[in-house]
Amino acid sequence: MLLQGKRALITGGARGIGQAIVNTFAAHGAQVVFTYVSSEARARAIESELNNRGAKVIALKADAGSYADSEKTVEETIRLLGGIDVLVNNAGITRDNLLLRMTEEQWDEVLQANLKSVFNYTKHTAKHMLRQKSGSIINLTSIVGEKGQAGQANYAASKAGIIGFTKSIADEFGSRGIRCNAIAPGFIATDMTSTLPEQTQQNILDKIPMKRMGTAEEVANAVLFLASDLSVYITGQVLSVCGGLNR
Ligand code: NAP
Repeated sequence: MLLQGKRALITGGARGIGQAIVNTFAAHGAQVVFTYVSSEARARAIESELNNRGAKVIALKADAGSYADSEKTVEETIRLLGGIDVLVNNAGITRDNLLLRMTEEQWDEVLQANLKSVFNYTKHTAKHMLRQKSGSIINLTSIVGEKGQAGQANYAASKAGIIGFTKSIADEFGSRGIRCNAIAPGFIATDMTSTLPEQTQQNILDKIPMKRMGTAEEVANAVLFLASDLSVYITGQVLSVCGGLNR
């Protein structure tokens, strides 16, 4: 029960890594609000399953790329849970294309959903965390944000931006009891990677020292560590969860 008594807000919690974070946090005693944007039925099913098991989990519909939606969601979370101790900026999308074929819309959509969302939620939540003089913010970046990837200039730029943002927030708020770290997953089995062509998947697997994809639960366990008091002296760091791909 590493998160007993903690109140958490997680963006994009109805699928993939976000869903695993919701499950893991609830299993460790946290009260959880998570957001979704399109997965309404899944969100309601997760909510009722976890509440039936005795957890307190609430799903709210909100577009993470919208400044106004994010502000409302943070206010609603504070009203529902009484505060926020942990913020996980997980929501993210891909719109892959080689640069010369990439549209302005593909660039804007990815930057809005992946990077502006992190600004939105961190800004609104930080005001509250500053008052309570504590909090842990965890941002989902990617090893692609550190290494780059052909066909993903928009995604890599958004994820590299998250790393700079994370380190800046750690510097701004470290003296006020607020930590900010990033998790950089490698190649994780979720909807996001299932659409990659089989040959591309095999090429990536060949380069991973552990020779397999990671699971959403393995990423969630690293998020749990950074959310919990086990990591109280860790801030401004990027923790790779990638089977050794980034070394
Ligand atoms: P996924 O299975 O495609 O799920 C994406 C999640 O983000 C969904 O819950 C989706 O909500 C939510 N989302 C997308 N746009 C949103 C928006 N505008 N507002 C609110 N929620 C939004 O992806 P995943 O693999 O779990 O990825 C989770 C995070 O890990 C992302 O930030 C991703 O970039 C990062 N990551 C993943 C991998 C990987 O290999 N899978 C590797 C490195 C980093 P709805 O279902 O409601 O649309």
